[in-house]
Amino acid sequence: MSSIIQLLPDHVANQIAAGEVVQRPASVVKELLENAIDAGATDIKLICKDAGKTLIQVIDNGKGMNVTDARLCFERHATSKIRKAEDLFDLHTKGFRGEALASIAAIAHVELKTKQDQDELGTHLVIEGSKFTSQEPSVLPKGTSFSVKNLFFNIPARRNFLKSDVVELRHIIDEFQRVVLAHSNIHFTMYHNGSELFNLPQSNLRQRIVNIFSGKTNEKLVPVQENTEIVTIDGFIGKPEFAKKNKGEQFFFVNDRFIKSGYLHHAIMAAYEGLLRDGAQPSYFLYLSVPPHTIDINIHPTKTEIKFDDEHALYAILRSAVKHSLGQFNVAPVLDFERDATLDTPYSFQNKEVDFPTIQVDSTFNPFEQEKKTTTSNFSSGGYKPKKETQSWESLYVGLKDTFEPQEMHFESEVTINSLFADSEVEKPKTVTYQIHKKYIVSPIKSGMLIIDQQRAHQRVLYEQFLTNITVHHANSQQLLFPITLYFSGNEMSLINELRPSLENTGFIFDAIGQDSVVISGLPVTVSESEASIVLEQLVADLQDEIPESSFSQIDSMAKSMAKSLAVKTGAILTEAAQENLVNNLFACKENSVSPFNKPTFITISVEDLDKKFSV
Ligand code: ADP
Ligand code: MG
Repeated sequence: MSSIIQLLPDHVANQIAAGEVVQRPASVVKELLENAIDAGATDIKLICKDAGKTLIQVIDNGKGMNVTDARLCFERHATSKIRKAEDLFDLHTKGFRGEALASIAAIAHVELKTKQDQDELGTHLVIEGSKFTSQEPSVLPKGTSFSVKNLFFNIPARRNFLKSDVVELRHIIDEFQRVVLAHSNIHFTMYHNGSELFNLPQSNLRQRIVNIFSGKTNEKLVPVQENTEIVTIDGFIGKPEFAKKNKGEQFFFVNDRFIKSGYLHHAIMAAYEGLLRDGAQPSYFLYLSVPPHTIDINIHPTKTEIKFDDEHALYAILRSAVKHSLGQFNVAPVLDFERDATLDTPYSFQNKEVDFPTIQVDSTFNPFEQEKKTTTSNFSSGGYKPKKETQSWESLYVGLKDTFEPQEMHFESEVTINSLFADSEVEKPKTVTYQIHKKYIVSPIKSGMLIIDQQRAHQRVLYEQFLTNITVHHANSQQLLFPITLYFSGNEMSLINELRPSLENTGFIFDAIGQDSVVISGLPVTVSESEASIVLEQLVADLQDEIPESSFSQIDSMAKSMAKSLAVKTGAILTEAAQENLVNNLFACKENSVSPFNKPTFITISVEDLDKKFSV
């Protein structure tokens, strides 16, 4: 039999290799920016169209390439950065694999214009799907420009796999920030669809951080500095009181390369111990410099993971450096080493008012009346239609009536209401409720008793209300006497811009949306002024973490997030009227048995179950 193994043609091999290097437009951005930095550029422009799907262009003023190198750079394993295997252990450049350009050229239309300072003319070259289609000398400025158009044009499956423009742009901005934070001595600009998103002049690190993450960041930052034999640590950490809900402002760099390390992150969290609210994430921008031979950056194809020779020592040094800064800048309350830290008040209790024990007496409680009702219900037949008590709705959710009237909708749950609650032909139907342990609402029903989880039930009510507001009809707003300004990073701002129409439907009124802040002059009636920042911060945190695939799932996540922020919590005391409203509103919901997060909202215990318990 003839042999069957063949060598793959180069362009096929390149396409396969490209899958490793180029996952999405953001990967191209990263490779091109890093090449520009390696070329010694001091001014780098990034231009994208349609989140990089149509165009990604990087223009630099670096050292450029001569005509031979301009052609060679697209060959696989063509690199000017290492010559022998040992060089891998002494890297001073971002790139070293010589794979990026070959991979990109295999799956896109690439145009290269490049000129070295000493040359009269530069080279203009076009390569599409690994095939050179034109090459000519050209009058060009010093430096290099790569344009990458129609990414994945020849791999439709990969192209279809790309997410929405918002999501892809967010990935690009993430990569951009990781690069620009490591090189504050370079001027970077970024444009998307014709508008300038970032303009970051050469500056020191502190100014660079502030330029990226809004003017308000400056007051949050505390410097960190530590010199030891094995590592030098520089950079900034955020004061604990500014800690955020998300990890959007956590950056580690090792020898100016962005890396991810759960282990080193843990060292920082350990330094902040006792200073953060539950689940809060401190900001940090930390730069570790280590001798290149003590790390191995080769273990991950996209190079964000790294192996250190002595991770344990790094952990200890990092933790103590961060702790030291927190203490030195009077951020941490504890400077007195004699004191026993176990006697400190935990963070969450620090500013709490003392709760005096109170006894609540329900003066309307009459055990005989209750008994009478139950007895009646056992013998009566036929269900009642609960009277819609709109006045009592208003007391818990002021203004809700305008936007969310259950009587306008046809819910299957009406059937449930009919049969669930105790019948009474003699008296005006009234839901009797008790709150227990500031957590559950208990109510007698025809078949036994109903126990409602107050937090989950309210989440369900708010969730359906927000969904209706966003998709069916707008909610009313309450005007603020004094508009409030909230600050966000560029990335967060692009998400808020995207969500703006939906937010306005729920009742938010934005006076101005700037580069790094929003001015709010009106709020949904269910949101108090002090809750506005919590709701928006939580929203940004939630939607950044789980990237929505479609606009519906985005609206859904948004309604979930707002319901989570605003729902009454376990521990809140509810008045009788509020309890009753909650019960009525819950059973007016389309899906009343589970919270938006699929947890049961109520359980029922039948009289038989109770009888069984007593029969022992
Ligand atoms: P690597 O960066 O790993 O060497 P690349 O495929 O990214 O591999 O680039 C191949 C080579 O092309 C580089 O080693 C460099 O010599 C050259 N090159 C790429 N981009 C530029 C640029 N912007 N300016 C000058 N030379 C460049
Ligand atoms: Mg490279």
